Amino acid sequence: MRVHLVNPSLSSFGVGVITPRWLYVLAAATPPEVGDPVLVDEGIEPFDPATVQRGDLVGIGIHTGNAYEGYQVGRVARERGATVVFGGIHPTLYPEEPRALGGAHAVVTGDGEATWPQVVRDALAGTVQERYDGGRVNGASFLAARWDLLPRNKYMWASVQTLRGCPKHCSFCSVWRTDGQQARGRTAESVVAEIVELRRIGFRFIALADDNFYPVTLQDLAMARRRADTRRLDELTAMREERFDLMRRLAQLPNDMVFFTQITMEAAEDEEFLAAMKRAHIAGALVGVESVTPEGLKAIYKDFNLVGDALADRLAMFRKHGLHVLGSFIFGLPTDRAETFAATAELADRADLTFAQFVMLTPFPGTVDFDRWERSYGGTPPEVDGIPITRHWLIPREHRPRLYAPHPTMSAEEVRLRTQAVWDEFYAIGRVWKRSRCVRSLKARLAFVLISKLYRQMYANTGIATDSARMQHANRWARWIGVPCQRLFAGKPMPELQVPAA
Ligand code: SF4
Repeated sequence: MRVHLVNPSLSSFGVGVITPRWLYVLAAATPPEVGDPVLVDEGIEPFDPATVQRGDLVGIGIHTGNAYEGYQVGRVARERGATVVFGGIHPTLYPEEPRALGGAHAVVTGDGEATWPQVVRDALAGTVQERYDGGRVNGASFLAARWDLLPRNKYMWASVQTLRGCPKHCSFCSVWRTDGQQARGRTAESVVAEIVELRRIGFRFIALADDNFYPVTLQDLAMARRRADTRRLDELTAMREERFDLMRRLAQLPNDMVFFTQITMEAAEDEEFLAAMKRAHIAGALVGVESVTPEGLKAIYKDFNLVGDALADRLAMFRKHGLHVLGSFIFGLPTDRAETFAATAELADRADLTFAQFVMLTPFPGTVDFDRWERSYGGTPPEVDGIPITRHWLIPREHRPRLYAPHPTMSAEEVRLRTQAVWDEFYAIGRVWKRSRCVRSLKARLAFVLISKLYRQMYANTGIATDSARMQHANRWARWIGVPCQRLFAGKPMPELQVPAA
């Protein structure tokens, strides 16, 4: 029996931006008696059914965004006689769906790494169960990934996770419900050891793929003090200390290393934290700005963010500390108006963002927004191709609506066109060239331009393009530009590198 692990994707680009970490973590959890698993990332090349033999085990990890493609892989694998197992956020929320639509024999809910060895052994014995519950693994038990199985020269960034969970409760996000609101941090020793292994094989760029790298804000500490809640204060202080300890360890790594992570905007008021990030070679972070209007932020339970000049100033704090920001914005909120798009583009420019992404509001399962939206149809949602739009991930892609909830003042097409226009404006060549001043040499500036264009092709044109011709064009373009970009990111291997002393 061979084990195959498949990361489904609609598009294959030949190279990938970030390694799909779960593939390499489950490879580490695969019992040695079945040998090394076959790892397939469809973001690189499509899954080839001919590689699957009768009696093999095929594990497929999905989120809502690639569930449709995952179910296709599952059905084909089952037809070829494999035992098919699904896991990931989406099956955790809808454990019956992979059985009904994806040919699944079994579904793993929750964190997969602790349960996977049992699944493999059961498959080997022919006693696979319908359901396995992985629960929430504590941080000390997070596994290091099997990076020795990584194909060479295929990815720009490796990914390492230092914690799971987020204490916030944004209405469009499922992380706090699926991964929990209690941050589960991994030990600094295990994080640093894994990073050293990656640097040895030539990765300089590493995404710290945490839900929220800044789990304790200054406000959280002040509130615990005000309430004289010493137990909570001790807990928060310890968690904050662990972050600083990790960053002290990262600072000891080679100077050519570059990390990138995700944090909330509140980190900008914590200058001690920003300075520690900079010393730790963390070059930047994705910051969820989401909306530039107070009404928009209130609607998504994110009113801890700022607006107007205060927002621009706060975002600029990151740059003041030498940290780049990838600002993330959502369009299509009920409070958005035609002028919101121009105001967002202007803010992105004024706040000195290095990169930005503009996504259209989509109600994703597991979120407060989704529950509210589903309830609003009172059990009789409209259908597309016979599929209720409250199961939008099951609608063939070419027929999927671009905006799910009717907007009070704009048509879905207007929201789409205006969103596309903001992408076009932010990534216009003149603007990108101007922003490229954030790096020094001409070579680095050219690299910056290439990478900006790649980012835009991969995430804007493939994500919100309406016709398959435009999507294929964007894919071809991204494949073409992806290879030189990957070379720009590769570092000289450092096989002798040692783990710095604690
Ligand atoms: S959007 Fe970010 S800050 Fe909000 S709950 Fe999700 S992970 Fe946390």
